[in-house]
Amino acid sequence: MRIRCPACKHTTTWEENPWRPFCSERCKLTDLGRWASGQYKIEGEEKEEKQGETEPEEKEG
Ligand SMILES: [Zn+2]
Repeated sequence: MRIRCPACKHTTTWEENPWRPFCSERCKLTDLGRWASGQYKIEGEEKEEKQGETEPEEKEG
């Protein structure tokens, strides 16, 4: 069974995947981190709030 990683949108497998529904541990932790910090964007919502101020992006890995 093939699934799509909700974090990076890459295709992965369900059965042989300890990190399902994610493709890797990193994606799992990344996703959980987003939920915890409230940065998770709901799919389909295309709202961007820009008020002239930019926040520094965090680098992963
Ligand atoms: Zn992934």
